[in-house]
Amino acid sequence: MRRTTQAVVIGGGAIGASVCYFLTKLGMKNVVLLNKGGLASGSTGDSAAIVRQHYSNEVSIRLVKKSLEIFQGFPDEFDGAEVFTPAGWLFLVPPEAADALDDNMARLQAEGVNTWELSVEAAAEDLPGLNTDGIGRVAFEPDSGYADPRAAVSALVGRAEANGAEIHVDTPATGIESTGATGSKVRTPNGDIETEVVVNAAGPWAGEVGRWMGLDLPLEISREQDIIVRPPADAPPLRRAISNMVDRTYIRPEATGDILVGTGHPKENEPADPDSYRRDASPEFVRETGRLLVHRFPAMANAEVIHGWAGLYTITPDWNMIVDRSPVHEGHYLAVGGSGHSFKLAPAIGLCLAEMIVAGQSSTVDISPLRADRFDRADVLRSTYGGNRA
Ligand SMILES: Cc1cc2nc3c(=O)[nH]c(=O)nc-3n(C[C@H](O)[C@H](O)[C@H](O)COP(=O)(O)OP(=O)(O)OC[C@H]3O[C@@H](n4cnc5c(N)ncnc54)[C@H](O)[C@@H]3O)c2cc1C
Repeated sequence: MRRTTQAVVIGGGAIGASVCYFLTKLGMKNVVLLNKGGLASGSTGDSAAIVRQHYSNEVSIRLVKKSLEIFQGFPDEFDGAEVFTPAGWLFLVPPEAADALDDNMARLQAEGVNTWELSVEAAAEDLPGLNTDGIGRVAFEPDSGYADPRAAVSALVGRAEANGAEIHVDTPATGIESTGATGSKVRTPNGDIETEVVVNAAGPWAGEVGRWMGLDLPLEISREQDIIVRPPADAPPLRRAISNMVDRTYIRPEATGDILVGTGHPKENEPADPDSYRRDASPEFVRETGRLLVHRFPAMANAEVIHGWAGLYTITPDWNMIVDRSPVHEGHYLAVGGSGHSFKLAPAIGLCLAEMIVAGQSSTVDISPLRADRFDRADVLRSTYGGNRA
């Protein structure tokens, strides 16, 4: 293991992998990434990885647009790695959210997002077997879809390594010692690493890493569940990714033809300890999520639940990430608080934070709205729909 580096990235999920890759791409080759388990073994590996652009604040819209461009370019950039499926995305909206939808669609179109409204009848044609009860409006994004989160991390980290980074799995950082205004020592079980830059991309453990940085980060951890169901042979195939605000579900196909289903907001957080929480989906969740799926797609009545799991959201007070230099140490950086929707933002977050580290500020997207001190100044980001539907 290198003893002296320019940067240590703590965390090998989507965010850390992306920061590490873009640092090396921008010319900072002497980078070490530490991950305490296997790559993508945190929230990223548990993610539904739906990539939609329907956000309600400008910074997120710009970040997701850039991320989508990067996902689309993966095969060229990463030797044919096909990590993204442009299945198209539909947003099913109840009549009472019509004003919020109008507001957002105008903002999205002004930012150049390729999105338009479908009539409920057109949506029913596009989604065979859809029960249209309660659906007031439908937004459509033909270019959105979903990704394979583990394959994305693997491609990013593989190329970072080829560019000169050192990647260490099963190697936790165990502490950070400041060695001056900018320098630090990162402790590991295999010895200390002297570094100019430390990036906290530790997902649900970012609070602990933050404390080593002298910060009390405003992060809450919540347990979140998904299931995979196998549709009956005679059910019409589902081809799109769907966010269903009417029943609070999200649904997307798997490459196998199975279907991933989770439940969205509004709902209560379920506080969890990242080192010990229930990893399987509870029988109540499986039952209720199955019921909601069958209500919306009655042909799924005899679908078989083949798998369920729980992962973790790391939530900030305004449900948007903190991406910034530390307010107390020049060489420490934060990319924390994915808040249940930041897999899709990871490519652009990694690029923008790498720009900030290498050049002093991000140039691709102005990420100052994600600054760390916004909660002290009550200058938080707004969200039209609440929760992780930021
Ligand atoms: C069930 C579920 C569904 C989701 N669905 C979506 C979705 O559809 N679309 C979307 O965009 N987002 C979704 N998300 C959110 C998304 O997955 C996360 O925002 C994103 O993956 C966070 O990535 P991360 O790299 O910050 O965290 P993580 O993936 O958790 O990575 C952090 C890494 O840091 C490592 N680490 C921690 N402490 C240390 C240490 N001391 N030393 C070394 N390594 C350490 C961990 O091992 C871990 O691998 C979902 C999340 C869940 C749980």
